[in-house]
Amino acid sequence: MRKLLFQGLIRPPLTEQPPQPDDGALAELAASLQRTARRRLGRSISIRQIDAGSCNGCELEIHALANAYYDLERFGMRFVASPRHADVLLVTGPVTKNMREALERTYHATPAPKWVVAVGDCAVNGGCFAGSYAVVGSVSEVVPVDLHIRGCPPSPTDLLKGLLALLEHTNREKHAP
Ligand code: SF4
Repeated sequence: MRKLLFQGLIRPPLTEQPPQPDDGALAELAASLQRTARRRLGRSISIRQIDAGSCNGCELEIHALANAYYDLERFGMRFVASPRHADVLLVTGPVTKNMREALERTYHATPAPKWVVAVGDCAVNGGCFAGSYAVVGSVSEVVPVDLHIRGCPPSPTDLLKGLLALLEHTNREKHAP
């Protein structure tokens, strides 16, 4: 027993090494997103997240955008509590029958210009829940979708890249002859 306790004291922790942070690339990506949002909207971007029936895996990645590592708010981007204050709706999960009306009402409550981003494979095509008796289907079967971000779940960096691509695309459309 004493030997076991001693080993416990001298052994290093058995946790995995954290990934090497690529803070420069992340800051660059988030700064471009902020610049594009300012060009397109005249201010920073406000995001409302809607869980239309996900397993919560996608939410964990979305929540990571607000943690100390990604810390999106330092670039002015923020999550808002009301769709009336939102520019972008980030929708996760297959749309369940119970959440269909809530999603439609949230969409209609969001002022234009607004964009809908379907996050995760389930939001794109129902994913592993496709065909369930409790599911309506993909997000695009309920509200118009401007961008799909695939992955199960997509990483926070994928989410940032997707938002940037969305804003750049809409910016080009606005300035197209
Ligand atoms: S895409 Fe994957 S992580 Fe996201 S809701 Fe579906 S099963 Fe969960």
